[in-house]
Amino acid sequence: MSFLKRTIKNAVSQGISRGLGNAIGKAVQQVVEPRATEYANKAAEHFDQAAGNVAQQTRQTTSGMEGAFANLERSIQGYANQMTKDLKVCPECGQPTSGDKKFCPGCGAKLPEQTLGQSAVCPSCGKQNSVGTKFCQDCGAKLPVALQEEEMAARKNAKVLAQWDEILPQYPKWTCGGELYIEDYGSDGVNFSASFNGNTGAAHRAVEAYRQILQQNGFRPAGQNPTQAQLFKRIDGVVYNVDTEHCFEGDPDCACIGFCRREPYGGFDYVKPEPKKSKDIGLDDLKDFAKLFRR
Ligand SMILES: [Zn+2]
Ligand SMILES: [Zn+2]
Repeated sequence: MSFLKRTIKNAVSQGISRGLGNAIGKAVQQVVEPRATEYANKAAEHFDQAAGNVAQQTRQTTSGMEGAFANLERSIQGYANQMTKDLKVCPECGQPTSGDKKFCPGCGAKLPEQTLGQSAVCPSCGKQNSVGTKFCQDCGAKLPVALQEEEMAARKNAKVLAQWDEILPQYPKWTCGGELYIEDYGSDGVNFSASFNGNTGAAHRAVEAYRQILQQNGFRPAGQNPTQAQLFKRIDGVVYNVDTEHCFEGDPDCACIGFCRREPYGGFDYVKPEPKKSKDIGLDDLKDFAKLFRR
């Protein structure tokens, strides 16, 4: 990808995603990005020409380009906002659809009355806020779009926790917050994650709280190298493992926990052997030892 294309791609995604790092934001991005990219690519042709015209004056070209990209980012932001005036997002499946629809074309769920643009209008002072804003930029009131967002997240989490009953019945339920995901790998186990959207501290506290819940429910460190990050419990002869050791390897604010059936290294019942005491060495041992030096 050329420098220009890369910079344009950045301007497009920055323009769209500024403040839109949530479920509704992602849905909006799906719709807006392809059209915004097309629009930006057209603008790029003009940049190319402008750059060619002032090729000798390198410094001016660079600052001119920077200004132009900042403008592009702003106009795409405006474009994204304009589009949301005719956009609804399904609260059940997250699919974006046009503002005239009453039911989701993807799953049939009832859609909210308001478009995303309308639900960014402040209920107390009437200001039209940009989409992705949760609180009114003029008076601080909570916007309807924020409530819709919370509702969507709560429904999604409820679905994940319902799945939990089915595929993780041996483990205590996660009650430690975040945006939840679950992936069942059959006999290989289950990957579960809780995302805290940029809050690394909250993610770490949540894992610590869950380890405590596990221990209260009879899970414990076991095997030859016991650690708080690997907890085990035997139920009806089967050993269940919770792996919180590699929790933050992908993403520091997303706690990823592995659940599977597995014996710890050395076995669940491993007991560290007592170190040999010196009084156990008898006279015969000393005689054997002495033999080594006799020839
Ligand atoms: Zn739907
Ligand atoms: Zn307001």
